Amino acid sequence: MEILSIYNTLTKNNQELMVVDGRPFGVYCCGPTVYNYAHLGNFRTFILQDILLRVLKVAGYEVKFVRNLTDVDDKTIKNSLALGVSLREFTKKWENVFHDDCQRLNLLVPDVEPRATEHIKEQIALIEKLISKGHAYMTEDGSIYYDVSSFGDYGKLSGVNIFNLEHQSANGGGDRNESDEYARESVRDFALWKAKKATDGENFWPSPWGDGRPGWHIECSAMSMKYLGHTIDLHCGGVDLCFPHHENEIAQSEAATGEIFSRYWFHTAHLLMDGEKMSKSLGNIFSLNDIVSKGFSPMVIKYALMACHYSQQLNFTTDGLRSAASAIHRIITILSRLKSLTGCASIADVPFAGWKYFGEAWMALKTDLNTPRCLGSIFSVLNELNLESLPSHQWKHCLAEICKLLYALGLDNMSNLVDAIVPGAVQAMAEERWAAKLSKNFTLADELRQKINDAGWEINDAKTSYEIFKSF
Ligand code: AMP
Ligand code: ZN
Repeated sequence: MEILSIYNTLTKNNQELMVVDGRPFGVYCCGPTVYNYAHLGNFRTFILQDILLRVLKVAGYEVKFVRNLTDVDDKTIKNSLALGVSLREFTKKWENVFHDDCQRLNLLVPDVEPRATEHIKEQIALIEKLISKGHAYMTEDGSIYYDVSSFGDYGKLSGVNIFNLEHQSANGGGDRNESDEYARESVRDFALWKAKKATDGENFWPSPWGDGRPGWHIECSAMSMKYLGHTIDLHCGGVDLCFPHHENEIAQSEAATGEIFSRYWFHTAHLLMDGEKMSKSLGNIFSLNDIVSKGFSPMVIKYALMACHYSQQLNFTTDGLRSAASAIHRIITILSRLKSLTGCASIADVPFAGWKYFGEAWMALKTDLNTPRCLGSIFSVLNELNLESLPSHQWKHCLAEICKLLYALGLDNMSNLVDAIVPGAVQAMAEERWAAKLSKNFTLADELRQKINDAGWEINDAKTSYEIFKSF
């Protein structure tokens, strides 16, 4: 097994991810709130998490991947009531849209994908434990709040310091924050259980404190404990979740169990749009469909979103998409070239026999998940490599290494494009075009290329032959 390192937000340094013997490496990612399209900022985060998971797998870790679905909160309730449909009917629709987008982006499916509404019992049990240990208290309306002053380590992840704020401390007497999302300046006791309100409609559950619903933060603590035990190995999310969400998850979980909640924390920097965070509340969002409808394929979008290190903010631009498209085109061309040189029917099946050409690119992924360095290294090797002059037994090695890297980057579906079976009519046009080209009838050759493209295929000419692959 090889060891990976990443920047751990908790310890503020780069650390090797060590496994705990006898159990799989448990990874918990905070999932989407299913009330609308996930936007490309969300997908930047999910794509980088996906690459991290894949790199762990390629390195030989046995991974258990849990990602939740937040299917009850202020927004899901408000929007479902506005449409006059049940909460489940509403969130199911957006869950399906999310899953569909994930599939188009070739993201790994979690081993467990728990819904908050299906774990009310676990959340109530955790809240009861916090009350019994003196970390939570009830307010007059029957809501339950976490007393942040009761947890000495509050702030250890995000660096907020409650004692510099005017937070008052007597148990039960603190200022409170009813909303789930709030800024650092307003750190306050936060809601674990929200008493039923008229605006909640039918969306409430019975509890020892009366009808109500869980606050947002408690679901991740309760569900990660259920599926990964008291200690998660690696917890992931966008940087905006660091505070308050992850800080609150730590406070709840560690106060309840007395054990460390997550050993490593992986946070991804934001995707920006015109210099501002892409977010639904700012209204500067693009969904996957928005960009696909401008003519960029999901794979191109994915490539553009990984072209910058996870710790750096990335500004979303059309230029970025264009260079991603040409990079993808180049990779597909190389794959189809190697496919015809090796004569392999299916390129992904070529056995891997160690790193000879692309070891540096792999090392870049293992060392703090450096996707831009990995991509840069792949292209610099390809620039120097003259495939035709390589001894023929090396072609398969080269192909196997590229395929392994493409898997790690979640771009392995490119091999399907190259392996796709060419329909007879397209093949016939391609042959006619090649003959036209050889006889210097370029007008006919161009017309045929256009027809081939219209049918969803691409031609790439080499010196003595051509390759054909599915458009991406
Ligand atoms: P949400 O559905 O808002 O809970 O977000 C799902 C995931 O996307 C979380 O990990 C967020 O931190 C992350 N996220 C939200 N906005 C952005 C953004 N502009 N760039 C990168 N990640 C984001
Ligand atoms: Zn969470």
